[in-house]
Amino acid sequence: MKIGFPRALYYFDYFPFWSGFFHSLDIELVISPPTHREIMNQGLKKASDETCLPLKILAGHIQALEDVDYIFLPRMVSVEADTYTCPKFLGIPESVLPAVPEGQSVLTVTLNWRNSKRQVLKDLEVLTEQLGKSKAEIRQAFNKGMEWQKKYQNSMGAEWDFEDSLNKIESASWDSTESSKSSAPLTWKERMISIIPLTSDKAEKQNLPVGEKSDRLRIALVGHSYLTHESYANLNLLRKLHEKVDVELVQNVRQEDIEGHLSGLRKKIFWSHSKQIFGAGNKYAQDQRVDGIIYLTCFGCGTDSIIQELVSRKAREKHKPYMLITLDEHSGEAGLVTRLEAFLDMVERRRGHEGYVSTYGECLDSDSNAL
Ligand code: SF4
Repeated sequence: MKIGFPRALYYFDYFPFWSGFFHSLDIELVISPPTHREIMNQGLKKASDETCLPLKILAGHIQALEDVDYIFLPRMVSVEADTYTCPKFLGIPESVLPAVPEGQSVLTVTLNWRNSKRQVLKDLEVLTEQLGKSKAEIRQAFNKGMEWQKKYQNSMGAEWDFEDSLNKIESASWDSTESSKSSAPLTWKERMISIIPLTSDKAEKQNLPVGEKSDRLRIALVGHSYLTHESYANLNLLRKLHEKVDVELVQNVRQEDIEGHLSGLRKKIFWSHSKQIFGAGNKYAQDQRVDGIIYLTCFGCGTDSIIQELVSRKAREKHKPYMLITLDEHSGEAGLVTRLEAFLDMVERRRGHEGYVSTYGECLDSDSNAL
């Protein structure tokens, strides 16, 4: 049996869980190729106009999956206690069904961690019939998925790197095929290189004597993983940044640090991704080593309309240079490069004139900073 897994949205955060799960069941996963123009165009044709860019990309990846028995579209309601995923995650699979080719079967299951582990297992057991596996095998697969997801999450921290982390999962003898036409299966590194080229600054960083500050600017890029690591949609923003500055990501912040930077809000943030983004953004706003923050969002993102505003206020409070980049399917590379260069020039100048902060807008800020 071959199961198609779209390389979009939940792929970037939860693929280790599902790959461990299906690996344990001895089921082959076929992953759609990295996003390209055709995938984007197909997605735009099938997704609803009002939805967000990542959902449109998901719709394109669904159509890029060929020769599979099922396309896997899980409904991920909640991935940890006391939080939910975004409402648009909850709407999957129904919201993207128009993108499923006629006659193609869909495999879906609900994952809700707000329920007990027992209930989660029970929900997964609905797969027994379609996959032809026993309940015991599903339980075993769940444990394997949890183990791989934990490894992936534990690998996050200061030196975290997306492709390195997935390479480690591969070393756990995961075997899958690419849905591209290539006959030889690609290694994780080969697959990921088209998403994020190896970071030149990483090697430089490693050669620096301990405690020595790099001359390069340090910029935090915060936003959903499926935007920051989706190089086609973000016009290679991450690569462009890596070429010019040292980059910090949401995944470079340890979970304890995220939790520590959530305090002080009047209300708890109940979307799991947004919690991570706000915690990391708040930390970077206070971190003296970080010279500026770029918040990457997309049109149509409901949760970011709130979280972006909160992070921008934190940055303003700390007089941290801050830029918002909003992507959509029409974003142009020239515009992005111009804004990026202008922002980095401004941050550079600011670093050269440390201590001088314009008083413009301070009265405004004092009122608007109350969260
Ligand atoms: S959090 Fe925003 S970008 Fe992500 S699925 Fe929801 S609306 Fe779309």
